Amino acid sequence: MASQEIETLTAALSRLPGLGPRSARRAVLWLIKRRETALVQLLEALDAVREALVECRTCGNVDTTDPCGICADPRRDARSICVVEEVADLWALDRARLFTGRYHVLGGRLSALDGVRPEDLAIDSLLRRIGEGGIDEVLLAMNATLEGQTTAHYIAERLEGFPVRVTQLAHGLPVGGELDYLDEGTLAQAIRARRPVA
Ligand SMILES: [Zn+2]
Repeated sequence: MASQEIETLTAALSRLPGLGPRSARRAVLWLIKRRETALVQLLEALDAVREALVECRTCGNVDTTDPCGICADPRRDARSICVVEEVADLWALDRARLFTGRYHVLGGRLSALDGVRPEDLAIDSLLRRIGEGGIDEVLLAMNATLEGQTTAHYIAERLEGFPVRVTQLAHGLPVGGELDYLDEGTLAQAIRARRPVA
């Protein structure tokens, strides 16, 4: 049996997405063998992120600066906003490198089951952003789930009357598909084939 400290580390790592107890133990052993190099690097990287982590007050992205790197990037098209459920979706879409505008993170999706109401999501701040003007297109990039699509319809309704083009991802997306799990090719195609919200 390993010491309490090593057990605690293994347990903490095994809670990471994609890691079970088995791979957590392997990771711990790997780190122990490289405690002067990889372990120190990991500690420093974790500490630096913990110190610097902030939520962008404009879009809700998580980064080490506020505004985040995307909002602060002058090469980004400020006239186009892509609305996503979670930060993970923003990162997934941005990896596809096809959308050149900026983002808005809702912080979830409407759900009667989980009691998530419009006021629980960053919808008012989205409407404020659009109300300030200078936005031509709002791309609703919700997950292709029932709740994701309900959320997209709700936002599309709230956007009626704003002088913006409201589009959504084309549904080459698999039904029930979550953006974060899709490969970049599928995502790129969905962005390319985006269409007006019916
Ligand atoms: Zn931002």
